[in-house]
Order: sequence, then structure tokens, then C-alpha cells
Amino acid sequence: MKYLITGGAGFIGSHLAEMLLARGEEVYIIDDLSTGTLKNVEHLQDREAFHLVVDSILHETVMNELLSKCDAVYHLAAAVGVKLIMNRPVETLETNVKGTETVLRLANRYKRKIMIASTSEVYGKLMNGENARPLSEDADSLMGTSTKRRWAYACSKALDEFMALAYYEEKKLPIIIVRLFNTVGPRQTGQYGMVIPNFVQKALIGKPITVYGDGSQSRSFTHVTDVVDALDKLMGNPKAVGQIFNVGNSEEVTIRDLALLVREMTNSSSEIEYIPYERAYGPGFEDMQRRCPNINKIRTLIGYHPRIDLRGIIKSVIDYYKT
Ligand code: UDP
Repeated sequence: MKYLITGGAGFIGSHLAEMLLARGEEVYIIDDLSTGTLKNVEHLQDREAFHLVVDSILHETVMNELLSKCDAVYHLAAAVGVKLIMNRPVETLETNVKGTETVLRLANRYKRKIMIASTSEVYGKLMNGENARPLSEDADSLMGTSTKRRWAYACSKALDEFMALAYYEEKKLPIIIVRLFNTVGPRQTGQYGMVIPNFVQKALIGKPITVYGDGSQSRSFTHVTDVVDALDKLMGNPKAVGQIFNVGNSEEVTIRDLALLVREMTNSSSEIEYIPYERAYGPGFEDMQRRCPNINKIRTLIGYHPRIDLRGIIKSVIDYYKT
């Protein structure tokens, strides 16, 4: 098979490319290197079956050629990272809305199977209430007001989902939507906000580990190799077409406990510093108190079980930053 990965020089895209190449597939990636880097894929460059195009997914001529020659598409190119989204709202909306619109339209021209990477952000702050339950794919979203910038990202990705489902229902385009929860592993940068690489890097150099808010908020983390394995199995399963799947891990941890665990695992003497959200992200920031997936749907279809636990995840990031 020939696969196209948009955003293939990014953190998740580069792991996916590596896995597909190892299995003997041919892989084309397109990346504008906005948040992805050549370093992420330099170890793949000498493979005959690997093709790298440095360009924007908004470039129609280039995308048309790629779509015409590939059999299936993983659409991962997007503006990601809470910090980036807070700092560059116009770019976020343009990339996520226009980019997905372009990729879907061209995939439809050649009727290529396409997986759209969405995000757990689309649930918004649904788990903030007292009776919160792990998030199922058919749960309602609860997003904040438009003046709070964070929600622009959630809204743009929800629109991507609507567009993909519209193509499926109206034009019979085979689409699959995956809602990725906090994904972590080697090559993830802390530059755009992601908490684990941030904590690990600070702990390794003895700088204060910065916890935003009071640290009582919780998240559930999944290792990138579990995620790319799930994406591959969903792509290969005809029953996944036209469906939305959570891809995550149901083990929850508070950010305060995460900071303590990273400090312990790095043998660091870093202080843990609590910083108000306003100072971290600027005014008008709203966080979600909890975010945890219900993974019954993906488990039932492909037997999905994340294999790497939180300690294993943190260890892989420590090893990466140490080397
Ligand atoms: N966070 C933190 N310190 C950091 C980066 C993030 O305390 O240096 C917090 C952030 O406020 C959030 C959680 O860690 O509550 C996860 O943040 P991340 O940006 O990794 O992902 P999110 O789940 O917010 O998309």
C-alpha cells in the first residue's frame, strides 16, 4: 500500500511513518515543518519507500498529486498544543479548517480512504461536573464561550469531524475519525505546552517543575506506540468506516502527582512551583478539570489495550531527553 501522512514530520506522524515502513509499506509525508521537524524523520530518509514533501497541505497542486498516487491517507496535519493555540489563533483556525477541507475534497476526488485525527478537546469541559463519567464518543460537547480562545481549537476540530461525516454520508467517502487523548512519547516537544516533556526536561536540568493552577486537574496519557498501533488497526478494519473512536488510556493522574512522579523517576531535586493559569497562558484561559476516555468502542472493535503504563511512558520520555 501507498500511504500519505499529512503532518508526517510531527511527533505522532513520524512514529506512524516508522511503523508502516517497518512493515514494508510505501510512505509519503507532507509537512510544512511548522511544528514538525526534519530531525523527527532523518532516520527514515535513506529508505527507498520513504518520500518527504516539505510543503503546506493548503497547496492544492502538490496535494492533488499526492492524493492521486496514494491509496489511503492519515490526516494528522493540524495546529496543536495549547500554548501554540493561545498564541496563534488565526493560524490555528486556518490550518485546521481550510487544511482539512482541502484534504477531504481531494481525497473525495480519488475516493481515497482517509483517517481524520481529531482530539479529546472536542468534548470541552464536559468532565468538570461532579457526576462526570469517562467520555464516550456519543457524549454531548460542552465548550466555553467564543471569547475564550482555547475553545477555537476544539471548535475547529469539531468542524473537521462534521466535514468528514458529511463527506461520508453524502459522497460515500470512506472516512474514520479518531479522537486522540493526551499522547506522549519520544520526539514530543514541550515547546507548545505539552506537560510531560515539559516536566521531564525541567526535572533533568534541575529547574522548577511548573504546575499550572493548583495541580488538582487530571489527565490520562497514552504512549505514542499504542496510539499508532490503534490507528493502523482501525485503518485496516472495514467496520471502522464512518465511525468516531476515542484513542486513549483510562488510567488517570492529577498534574500534581504527575510532577511528583517525574521528579522521583528523574532523581531530581527540582522544586515544584505552582503558577496561576493567567500567568502561564494569558488572560481568558479555561482548563478542563478532568479528561478521561471511555475506550469500550475501540476495545470491542479491534481488541485495543494500551500496553505501556504511566511509568513506562515517563521512562521513554526521560530516556529520549537523556540521549
Ligand atoms: N500543564 C502544567 N505545566 C506545564 C504544561 C501543562 O501544569 O508545563 C498542565 C495544563 O495546564 C493541563 C495539563 O497540564 O492542565 C495537561 O496539559 P497539556 O498542555 O499537556 O495538555 P491538555 O490536556 O491541556 O491539552
